[in-house]
Amino acid sequence: MNYRLRQSWPLISGVVAATLILVLAFTDAIPRDRGITLTGLALIAGLASQLVLVNRDGIVRERRLISITTDLRVVTAELERLATIDPLTGLRNRRAFFAVLSAEFRRAQRYGRDLSVVMIDIDDFKRVNDEGGHVFGDYVLTATARTLADQTRDSDVVARYGGEEFVIMLPETNEDGAAAVAEKLRRAIEGLEYRSGEFPPAGQPAYRVTISVGTASGPVEETQNETELVKRADRALYAAKSAGKNRVHRWTPTGSVEVTQPSA
Ligand code: GH3
Ligand code: MG
Ligand code: MG
Repeated sequence: MNYRLRQSWPLISGVVAATLILVLAFTDAIPRDRGITLTGLALIAGLASQLVLVNRDGIVRERRLISITTDLRVVTAELERLATIDPLTGLRNRRAFFAVLSAEFRRAQRYGRDLSVVMIDIDDFKRVNDEGGHVFGDYVLTATARTLADQTRDSDVVARYGGEEFVIMLPETNEDGAAAVAEKLRRAIEGLEYRSGEFPPAGQPAYRVTISVGTASGPVEETQNETELVKRADRALYAAKSAGKNRVHRWTPTGSVEVTQPSA
C-alpha cells in the first residue's frame, strides 16, 4: 500500500465510518438526527486520531534525529581525540603539541611570561630495536613516555615529536627551571630498568637507556614565532648528542651550554 495512504488510515477510517452512518441515516435505518451526530463524531474521531499519529511520528522522528546527532557528536569527539593522540604512547602528537605551544607562546609574548621547550631524544635507540626487537622497542618508548609524563606537572605538555623523540612545553618556566626539569628527567630515565616479556633473558640485568636533552627558553624576538623555541631546543639537543649523549644542553645566543650535573 502507498505509504501516505497507510499513514492516513485514522482519517480514512473516520470518513468511511461517517459515510456509512450518513447512508444509514438517510435510508432511515437509524434516526436521522442521531445519524448526523454520529457522523460528526466519526469525523472528529478520525481527525483527532490522525493528529495524534502525525504528532507521534514527529516525536519518534525527532528522537531518532537527536540520537543520531548525539552519536555523531561522540564519533566526532573520538575522531578529534584520535587525531591529537599518538597511539603507541598515548601522549599528544606533534600536531597537537604545536597547537598548544602556539597559544601558550602568544600568551607568554603578550604578557611577558616565561616559557620553555625541552627536546628529548633516546640515545642509540636503534640498538634497542636491534637487540630486543621492535616489540621491546615499542615497550621502551611507552615506558619512557610514561616516566616523562609522571615526572612533569599537569600544566606541562609532553608530546611524542616522532620516532624516539619527545618534546615538552613548560609554561611559566625560565631557563634555570627548564634546566632543572631536563636534568631531573635525564636522571629518571637513566635510572629506569626496562624488562618486558622474554627480554632481557632471565638471569641477565634489566635493559637501560639514556636520553640527550636540549632546552630553550623565551622570550624570543617579537618577529619570531613558537617554532623558533623548538628549533633552539633542537639545536641544543644536537649539541648534547655531539658532546657525547646522556646529557642536557641549554640554548644560548652564543652557542649551547651543558647543564648536566655529574651523577652522584
Ligand atoms: P642517536 O643516539 O644518535 O639518537 O641514535 P639513535 O639510534 O637513537 O637514532 P636513529 O635516528 O639512528 O634511530 C632511531 C630509531 O628509532 C630508528 C627507528 O627504527 C626507531 N623507531 C622510530 N620509531 C619507532 C617506533 O615507533 N617503534 C620502534 N620500536 N622503533 C622506532
Ligand atoms: Mg632521533
Ligand atoms: Mg635517538
